[in-house]
Amino acid sequence: MPLVSGHEVIAKCTEEKLVAGAFNTTNIETTMGIVEAIERTGVPTFIQVAPTNAVLSGFDYIYDMVSRRLADCPVPVALHLDHGKSIQPVKDALAAKFTSIMIDASEEPYEENVRVSQIARDLCGPEISLEAELGSIGGKEDDHGPEIANSTDPSQVADFIAKVGCDMLAVSVGNVHGYSPDARIDFDLLSKVREASSVPLVIHGGSGLPEEQLARLGEFGVVKVNVASDLRNAMIRSFGEAYNANPDEVSLIRVSKQSVNAIADVVERRIRMFNPSVN
Ligand SMILES: [Zn+2]
Repeated sequence: MPLVSGHEVIAKCTEEKLVAGAFNTTNIETTMGIVEAIERTGVPTFIQVAPTNAVLSGFDYIYDMVSRRLADCPVPVALHLDHGKSIQPVKDALAAKFTSIMIDASEEPYEENVRVSQIARDLCGPEISLEAELGSIGGKEDDHGPEIANSTDPSQVADFIAKVGCDMLAVSVGNVHGYSPDARIDFDLLSKVREASSVPLVIHGGSGLPEEQLARLGEFGVVKVNVASDLRNAMIRSFGEAYNANPDEVSLIRVSKQSVNAIADVVERRIRMFNPSVN
């Protein structure tokens, strides 16, 4: 089916008590692997790309590749901008027909975060879903992410959502980008944020969290969990292993297809971790 708006993924997941994975693509192998896993599980999903990962291709290429692959996929999928750090990438992703947007001005002072996020809201209009971030999620992934994490302050949540009008809120509650041994969800804090929030929550840093924590997120109003490092590592590992096995290997297509399978397996495993009820 054609790409759907993020609103539709959120609504379907809420209705069916599911948690959408949000998987970062970079190239055709990651896209093919992600969609293969979506088809295996049937869970509505976000495919996303951050501006830092679209430097080789650009948003138009990502749109063409993702929408072409999804044309015969029966599961609703939205194409999402991950970590739009300013207004320009938001405009660029909307121009490339992305169907969901994240504005991340979370490293700015509170009032500035509100102001920038409001501009993104106006640009998205009612059709395109908007994720905004309150509190900074730590850890580095490629070259984005702050040096210092700031936990989400529950006392700011209701005011922020009312002023911005975002459809999802990314929160910093112990989650960290990438692989971090320190990543642990603080469920007390997550509960307080959830009580204050009128919109579903988003957890970034899904690659580094323990399985038993990922399985509980749906009970705490979380509708979207981002995973990037896991997929990238799966692809790089496939090529590394092929080279180690045979430094004279020249069948790029064979190794590329192996990497697609490795990515699909990683994504499927994550989707099932977020949704223990899915068979
Ligand atoms: Zn993130």
